[in-house]
Amino acid sequence: VPADEFREFARGVEAAYDELLANADGHVADYIPTLRDADPDKFGIAICTADGQLFSIGDAKAGFSVQSTSKPFNYAMALEEFGAEEVHRWVGQEQSGGTFNDPRLSLDHDGKPQNPMINAGAMATLALVEPGLSEDGRQVAIDHTWTRMMGAEPGHDHATFLAERDTGHGNRGLAGLMAAKGMLRVDPRDRDAPQKAAEFYFGVCSMQVDAERLAAAGATLASGGIAPYSGERVFGQETVGRVLSVMGHSGMYNDSGRFSEQVGLPAKSGVSGNVMMVVPSKQLAVVVFSPRLDEAGNSVRGVEVCRRLVNEFGLHPYKGL
Ligand code: GLU
Repeated sequence: VPADEFREFARGVEAAYDELLANADGHVADYIPTLRDADPDKFGIAICTADGQLFSIGDAKAGFSVQSTSKPFNYAMALEEFGAEEVHRWVGQEQSGGTFNDPRLSLDHDGKPQNPMINAGAMATLALVEPGLSEDGRQVAIDHTWTRMMGAEPGHDHATFLAERDTGHGNRGLAGLMAAKGMLRVDPRDRDAPQKAAEFYFGVCSMQVDAERLAAAGATLASGGIAPYSGERVFGQETVGRVLSVMGHSGMYNDSGRFSEQVGLPAKSGVSGNVMMVVPSKQLAVVVFSPRLDEAGNSVRGVEVCRRLVNEFGLHPYKGL
C-alpha cells in the first residue's frame, strides 16, 4: 500500500474513532465473569497492511480473548494440514441459519456442522489440527502459527478458559452429538474425547491478543497468506481464498447476511467485542475492539467502524459499480 494512501486511510480510521467514541449502545457479553466485568468503554482500532504498515488509535494494545475470531485460523490450519477434501468431510460450507452455539441447529442430519465459523464447526476443524500431538503440543503448535502471523506470541487468559469450561455445556453437548454421529475426528476408543475436544476449543478461544496483533493476523489473510512483518508464508493462497470466502458469508453470526449487504467484505467477530475485517483490494486488515455487543453478538462500534470505512473509501465490491 503506498504510504500516502495508507495515511489517508489512517485519517479515516481516526475520524471514525472520534465520531464513535461517545456511542455506548449495546451490552457486554455476560455469560462468563471475565467478559461481564470487561470495561465496556474500551475502544481501539488497528490497521495493518500486507507490507507491515501499522496504524492504531485508542485501546489498541488492550488485551482481550480472541474468542470466535480464532475460527478462521483454525480452519486455515486444518486446510493446510489435511487439504480441502478431507476437511470438508467433517465440516460444511454453508450458512448455518442458527446462532453460533445453537446445539439444535448447528448440525445437518448427518451430524455435520454447517461451516467452520460456528462452534460445532470450530471444534470439528480443531480436531484436524495436529491430532497426533498431545493437547499441550497442539496448543503450542497453534500458538506458533499465531506467533508467525503476528510477530508476537499470543497470551493465554486462564480465567476466561476456566469460565468457558465451567459454563460450556452446550459446546460439550455439541461435541458429544458430533462424536455420536462419527463426525468428530477423535480417538473412538477414548470415551472422554468429545469433552476433551470441547475443552481444547475453550483454550483456543481464550488465547489473548490485542487489536494491533490481531490486525497483523488479519493482514496475513489480506496478503494471501504471508505474514506482514516477517514476509514468511504461513498459509497457501488456496487456503486463504477458502477462509475469506466463509468469513464473507458466515463471519458475523446471525447478522452475516446484512453485514455482507452493507459492508461486503470478509470479517469475523468474537464475543469479547472484537471485529477483524479483511480488505483484499487494499491488502490490509482492520481490527476493532469495543466490548459492547448488539443483539447478534457483534461489537456495536466494531460493525459501525467497518460500515463507515467501507462507505468513505468505496470498498464495497458490489456498490457504486
Ligand atoms: N467461547 C465462546 C463460546 O463458545 C466463543 C463465542 C464467540 O466468540 O462467539 O461460546
